[in-house]
Amino acid sequence: MQLDQFPRFPLAHLPTPLEPLTRLQAALGGPRLYIKRDDCTGLATGGNKTRKLEFLIGDALAQKATTVISEGGIQSNHVRQTAAAAAKAGLKCHLVLERNVPIDRPVYTAGGNLLLDRLLGATIHYCDPGETRATRSVKVMEEVRRAGEAPYYIPTGGSNAIGARGYAASMVELEQQAGSQGLRIDHIVVASGSGGTQAGLILGKAVTQSKATIIGIDVDHDPEPLMAAVRKIVQEGAAELGLGKIADEDFQLIPGYAAPGYGMPNAGMIEAVELLARLEGILLDPVYAGKAMAGLIDMVRRGRFGSEETVAFIHTGGTPALFAYADIFA
Ligand SMILES: *Cc1c(COP(=O)(O)O)cnc(C)c1O
Repeated sequence: MQLDQFPRFPLAHLPTPLEPLTRLQAALGGPRLYIKRDDCTGLATGGNKTRKLEFLIGDALAQKATTVISEGGIQSNHVRQTAAAAAKAGLKCHLVLERNVPIDRPVYTAGGNLLLDRLLGATIHYCDPGETRATRSVKVMEEVRRAGEAPYYIPTGGSNAIGARGYAASMVELEQQAGSQGLRIDHIVVASGSGGTQAGLILGKAVTQSKATIIGIDVDHDPEPLMAAVRKIVQEGAAELGLGKIADEDFQLIPGYAAPGYGMPNAGMIEAVELLARLEGILLDPVYAGKAMAGLIDMVRRGRFGSEETVAFIHTGGTPALFAYADIFA
């Protein structure tokens, strides 16, 4: 099975730019640093979920769904992108949101992504205390069915084998782009939260036979279940794409940059967000790309990469979440 044989609904501005981080590289020393601007995918402020949603919405339309249901935390970038994708595809959208981060300032509980979810026309359901997203999603699916709609369920982060196709395809894009710029990418660094992006890149590495190592940075502060999720999606994706066994060394998830917890600020993240803004004019986000960039900066400082190597950081988006954390930046 080839990637271009799956149903796909066009949403993203592609290819996203691959740019040198000239001033950051000069400030840090070490390897050549590039950034793949998946914050510029274009859909309602963009981000990594757009690539996944091209395949997920494509599948929903192929199944004649009329309503999309997805779930996440209240500042989820994934549900915001899902609401935008559903709007563009003419599908209704229900979002199940969980208060999964112990922050109750009004900018957090009403602004940022949540403001956009409402603006994009989604119907929002909040989990009751003690209720899981999955349980509530099943209930919402039943309600929607009773109302005569045909629901299509998208899991947290759009992270399943269907969504991961978007990131397998992005490796084809990245390899072609790097080739045309005369670059060989040795390492790819990416934030990993629900695992679909990292899994897709690992699958794309097998499809393109790229030599780049894929380095996921854990943003969950709980790497074991995340690694298991990445492995499961890779296994399913490898089966549908007819790929052989994926080597064990292709699964790299680095812990240590998420403390004190998912969505909770730390000093490394704040430094990374401020550095990228002030040296490159690039806005990272405080939950994912900021922590992953903090990981990259720390690995460069520790000499993990050779000075002749090239590292590409995937900017996975999340910019609206900055506004939900307005009070932590100088
Ligand atoms: C969802 C998200 C990620 C993590 O992607 P997963 O596929 O869930 O691992 C990274 N960055 C941003 C900005 C995101 O919204």
